Amino acid sequence: MKIAVLPGDGIGTEIVAEAVKVLKTLDLKFEMETALVGGAAYDAYGHPLPEATLKLAMDSDAVLFGAVGDWKYDKLDRPLRPEQAILGLRKNMGLFANFRPAICYEQLVGASSLKPELISGLDILIIRELTGDIYFGQPRGRRIATDGHFPGAEEAFDTMRYSKPEIERIAHVAFQAARKRKAAGTEGRVTSVDKANVLETFQFWKDVVTEVGKEYPDIALDHMYVDNAAMQLVKEPKRFDVVVTGNMFGDILSDEASMLTGSIGMLPSASLNTKNQGLYEPSHGSAPDIAGKGVANPLATILSAAMMLRFSLNQPEAAQRIEAAVQNVLAQGLRTGDIWSEGTTKVGTAQMGDAVVKALG
Ligand code: NAD
Repeated sequence: MKIAVLPGDGIGTEIVAEAVKVLKTLDLKFEMETALVGGAAYDAYGHPLPEATLKLAMDSDAVLFGAVGDWKYDKLDRPLRPEQAILGLRKNMGLFANFRPAICYEQLVGASSLKPELISGLDILIIRELTGDIYFGQPRGRRIATDGHFPGAEEAFDTMRYSKPEIERIAHVAFQAARKRKAAGTEGRVTSVDKANVLETFQFWKDVVTEVGKEYPDIALDHMYVDNAAMQLVKEPKRFDVVVTGNMFGDILSDEASMLTGSIGMLPSASLNTKNQGLYEPSHGSAPDIAGKGVANPLATILSAAMMLRFSLNQPEAAQRIEAAVQNVLAQGLRTGDIWSEGTTKVGTAQMGDAVVKALG
């Protein structure tokens, strides 16, 4: 088993170090190789996703990714910006399904900005399609961009598109995930989020998802407009089970869902291709505002490593051990600043990682 470790920028290096520490504690044999990505790779090699980094990722069973980006790169032409590395990895590895579980740990109910009764017991899964939509449609305007902006331009646009196979593929993933979750006790419902009332692309999305849904009579399907979904996620989040949506709506809704649970610092994510090769990363970014201070929450990255063990490395027991260790440190009252509340103990990034290692026993 080979893991490509790509820490990236900002807090990426700090949080990935803790996840690597946790992985090394497990009695498992895997090879880990580290490479530069994002702004760090641009600084060293002039490109956010150098050939060698891409090759390492493609040749590995899984990629453990930190985060990329910093405001200092905002002036670069778009293809050279750190965030392009993620798009490049997604595209080259064929990562089309992004899983973002939003689970509210009982110990953190007080850290959410929502009322405890709204989020206690919350366990929802947002599935975002990653390879289509407006992010990969034909962009116009860039041709005249000199420094990432468009001086003198009268307009710029991006086109939104989805193909039938792309929608079918992600719909199957969602229904199958709902089926697995139902077997473990959830409701067995897929909510497909669209904007079919305004956008042709999403009327098409809705029709195709409905068609695929007929193959899963045991799973309930409903459709919701994205504006309503954004509202329902904060009004009554527990009404959802599996949410499936396109690339852009998924980007926004998954961040919204992550805040339900208290902190974006708690939320892991997995992006998978058809071979279960995956890229695992926290849902948050490189947090330049707290980078280098040793205060970032490493738990989202540690939980991403657990998802990696489950989905790509076929080690579900090791994944469960990590998840139990995280619950254990939370039960001990240890908190990084983002989830700290009165009566709990504030710890830094490394202390939190050490506590998880200790809890693994
Ligand atoms: P961000 O997620 O980096 O930070 C948002 C807020 O959450 C900040 O206040 C930050 O301090 C806090 N935060 C994030 N992760 C935390 C953690 N683990 N522990 C404690 N607090 C945490 O989003 P942003 O500020 O909008 O973006 C910063 C940079 O990250 C930008 O360059 C952006 O493009 C990039 N970004 C990268 C990814 C990625 O690598 N996948 C995702 C989103 C944003």
